[in-house]
Amino acid sequence: MTDAEKLAEKYCHSMGQLLVDEGDLEEGIVFFQKAIDIGDTPYAWYGLSRSLGMAEDTAGAVGAISRAIKLAPGIPEYYYERSRLLAHLGRDDLADEDRNKAIGIDDNYRRIDTIKRAAGILEEAFEGVFHKPSCPVRSCPAYCCHFKDRLVLHGVTIGAWKLNALRAYFREKGLDERDFLEAFLVAGIENTDSLFSPHDIMKYNGAASVIFPRRKEHALGARLARDIPKGRSYLSLMWIDDTARPCCFFEDGRCSIYGAGGEPSLESCSSFLCMTGFVFVVLEHLGMFKEEWLAGASMAHLNQAAVEALVILAEDVYGNEELRACDPPDDDLKKKLIDRAERKISLVF
Ligand code: SF4
Ligand code: SF4
Repeated sequence: MTDAEKLAEKYCHSMGQLLVDEGDLEEGIVFFQKAIDIGDTPYAWYGLSRSLGMAEDTAGAVGAISRAIKLAPGIPEYYYERSRLLAHLGRDDLADEDRNKAIGIDDNYRRIDTIKRAAGILEEAFEGVFHKPSCPVRSCPAYCCHFKDRLVLHGVTIGAWKLNALRAYFREKGLDERDFLEAFLVAGIENTDSLFSPHDIMKYNGAASVIFPRRKEHALGARLARDIPKGRSYLSLMWIDDTARPCCFFEDGRCSIYGAGGEPSLESCSSFLCMTGFVFVVLEHLGMFKEEWLAGASMAHLNQAAVEALVILAEDVYGNEELRACDPPDDDLKKKLIDRAERKISLVF
């Protein structure tokens, strides 16, 4: 696919998801099919499968998810989704086989419903609490700053205000902006208003463009890519794989332009936290985070510990029936529950 086709595919599968979320299954399915006509991507087939399942076309949904599995055989949620559909069709033997495949890739699939429920409870409890939080997992290779395609395709763009701040930064450091920034011409691209913020479309070298950071040369590699964390609903982060390359502003494990212009990072970056990052931000907010947890710990361990902490916080505190029933809120009970959760969490790190 060309970049223009990738953007058209992105628009169609995002629209498909939006329409399905709004309850318009019929139109959502049409958009997923349009996305697939442009590019045979596993996530569009996954989206199509979920919408067909919701529309009670279970056999069609099995066909769609089987195509996703063929394209991306290492994604556990696809096997899990197919096992749910097969169980619905009464094929428990095949459903068990797929469930075991999901568990074989990621042992957390033994209790995936608990994890997803816990993620929902914590999302709800901390909605709007954090404003552009900085991820405290400093030992992470910052998977979230790695991309398998040009950053513009993942929505990482630079608005006019940050561009001015970056130009001042380049001048101060004696750097040439052409080594760091790329422009994507938006002329002829459909649905630009849905794909990009209007503040990000500007004249660059005389043509309407979107500006975005270049990538560095070296790829993440198979060794590091083993321990990529999950997204906030425990879904795989499809834009990161072992071929993903770091953003050019990624230096010594940190974002070198984080504070340029006095605003934390780029708008698109500052809104992202993976599940591990989110749980650590919550732990830091609650005063439980200990720097020593990071020293010498592998990402695999931190990802798993974050899942354990997520489930403890959701089950023992924010999803606690007694606490939820209190009106007005009972701060003493909440403190007691948080203290107990803290003791349990300290054991998982
Ligand atoms: S948000 Fe996630 S991927 Fe990004 S640095 Fe933090 S732990 Fe790593
Ligand atoms: S601009 Fe900074 S935070 Fe955003 S991807 Fe690049 S290095 Fe990461």
